[in-house]
Amino acid sequence: MKLTKKGYTLGGVDLLPIVEEHGAPLYVYDAEKIVSNYHELKNAFAGVDVHLKYACKALTNISILKLLRKEGAGLDTVSIEEAQIGLKAGYEPNEILFTPNCIGFEEIKQAVDLGLIINIDELSTLERFGNEYGGTVPCCIRLNPHIMAGGNSHISVGHIDSKFGISIYQVPHIKRIVDNLGIRVNGLHMHTGSDILDAEVFLRGAKLLYEAAKSFPELEFMDFGSGFKVKYKEGDVTADVKAIGKQIVASFKEFCKDYGRDLQLWFEPGKYLVSNAGYLLVDVNVVKQTTSTVFAGVNSGQNHLLRPMMYDAYHHIVNISNPSGTDRIYSVVGYICESDTFGYDRRLKEVRVGDILAIHNAGAYGFSMSSNYNSRCRPAEVLIYKGQAHLIRKRESLEYLLMNQLEVDLA
Ligand SMILES: *Cc1c(COP(=O)(O)O)cnc(C)c1O
Repeated sequence: MKLTKKGYTLGGVDLLPIVEEHGAPLYVYDAEKIVSNYHELKNAFAGVDVHLKYACKALTNISILKLLRKEGAGLDTVSIEEAQIGLKAGYEPNEILFTPNCIGFEEIKQAVDLGLIINIDELSTLERFGNEYGGTVPCCIRLNPHIMAGGNSHISVGHIDSKFGISIYQVPHIKRIVDNLGIRVNGLHMHTGSDILDAEVFLRGAKLLYEAAKSFPELEFMDFGSGFKVKYKEGDVTADVKAIGKQIVASFKEFCKDYGRDLQLWFEPGKYLVSNAGYLLVDVNVVKQTTSTVFAGVNSGQNHLLRPMMYDAYHHIVNISNPSGTDRIYSVVGYICESDTFGYDRRLKEVRVGDILAIHNAGAYGFSMSSNYNSRCRPAEVLIYKGQAHLIRKRESLEYLLMNQLEVDLA
């Protein structure tokens, strides 16, 4: 988002006219930013055969999936529905990694039938998989290296009590199942969670995977998951992907030499690709002065962007309707019957009823975590692509809310 003489723009397009056309609340994404994030990350791992599998749970709109496929991305999916959307977006089944957790075996069978790359994260599932398919269908194994990434327990999935992955200490057990059932293990996977700041955490996990790889001679790839930290707040320390890349490339090359073959190196970025490319634009309904606070009450809430309330996440907010106003302090709150605060004590250009506020970093886990709580419709989504604003999802309607509801005859 840029401030020009004419006002705020995104991808070269004026923002306020987009809101006039499509209404608020509105999700807006900048395609150029997504593309540049993709290449920045990919280039950081130059020197090895690196593949990025976009973790599409971050933002699952089919047009975003198509955009990233055009750049060469694969897909990381956590449900059969995500994979099906990926197929609709044009991904080949063998470009889609299926990394679910605690799903039924029927869904894994469906994924095999679709031809997806299967990632297994539980021992009895592995056993069942081997009994069903033997060596006819390969699979990747999700290991838990018990590495803690970041300080927030909500988004750390590699620690000892995590429900994700098979413990790295159970590799001998995995090996026993694999050998006895003739399973072909084509990849090893870890995802330590979000908020990785430096190469150190990756490398600690990587070394454990390299060690485990000795037990699996048929590997084609190693998947180091994601967790690249992005900037939410001025002054936030972010992942230095260039520095991380250099170190990982060096260690991966070394590993391939030891292993005796060059493998592919995979990552599954979600947030890194789309977070800073997206904005939630909301309309100010009420400016409410109480004894201690000035609230800016907007026509959106935790139903549209849950991260501030669920993770205590900081999302920068800008009043795009009044760029030359005086600074004042506001708490920006939603219209849901919960304490749904987007931001406490924010310095904003003076807010008037009807102003449009832009909530930053709304590209990842924004729309995809939204709900219809309070029977509110979800916003429309717009993608700015090559200087044009494209509607990529319609705003919901009352008909949509009632679509699957059936009225029982109470007579
Ligand atoms: C959510 C998830 C990701 C993406 O994480 P980000 O922090 O958004 O980059 C990658 N891999 C797996 C298995 C995930 O569940």
